[in-house]
Amino acid sequence: MKILFHENSKELWQFFIENQKNPCGCGSNMFHYEYDDSKIYGVCNACGEKIYTVAEPFVKEYLEMGKWIDLSNKKPSDYTILVDIDDTIEDLCGAWCKWLNDKHGTHVEHMDITEWDVSKFFPTLTKEQVFEPLHDENFWWTIEPISGASEYLKKLVDEGYNIYLCTSTDYRNVKPKHEAIIKRYFPFIDWRKVIVAYDKQMIKADFLIDDGIHNLEHGEYVKILMSATHNRSYNAEENDMHRVENWKEIYNLIHRLTD
Ligand SMILES: [Mg+2]
Repeated sequence: MKILFHENSKELWQFFIENQKNPCGCGSNMFHYEYDDSKIYGVCNACGEKIYTVAEPFVKEYLEMGKWIDLSNKKPSDYTILVDIDDTIEDLCGAWCKWLNDKHGTHVEHMDITEWDVSKFFPTLTKEQVFEPLHDENFWWTIEPISGASEYLKKLVDEGYNIYLCTSTDYRNVKPKHEAIIKRYFPFIDWRKVIVAYDKQMIKADFLIDDGIHNLEHGEYVKILMSATHNRSYNAEENDMHRVENWKEIYNLIHRLTD
């Protein structure tokens, strides 16, 4: 089965019809094209169902679009997947709000954080007060993993995918993050598979899973946007990103794009 990608061979060419859901009924309005050497199908991005067949007279024209890539001969080990840490595999934002509320008597909930800059939602605190916990080793031990992250990441590792954690963390947080997050919740990921990079676009990989839009934009990887309250209003589809709500969706999406 060949799948239609953009010319750069990295970005899946995705389509949607304004104000119309896919006829499969799963709720998604995004689809892509797959070709089985005979017919071209529109396939739902979310559930993988073939939702329509391109009429025969248009097949030649469609085959001249973008890059049709045959993924069927590739093995999981042929794919490198970068996985962000904060708010992708653990709930940094939730622990951060709780820490500041407990310390300063504020009442901000995780759901209230609708923009990237957390300090905007604590107007009574200075920036130093807001960012202080990130430099407190004890804070990292209060963070919980995101549901399903460990289970599905381990499945991907066991299946042979090259999984690298990729975090743009401050150098002072590298050690506590390793000990309180990676070793505690994701012990199957060796420290040699952890990349600290502020500009993730510099890293060569097939996929990046991240909640930070700025990490996905302009990257030469398939972009998987982990939904978070701060990125909820961003139009992922129009920016060639796959929005996912949980780790089961991530796991299924990776299989759909690589099987
Ligand atoms: Mg993050």
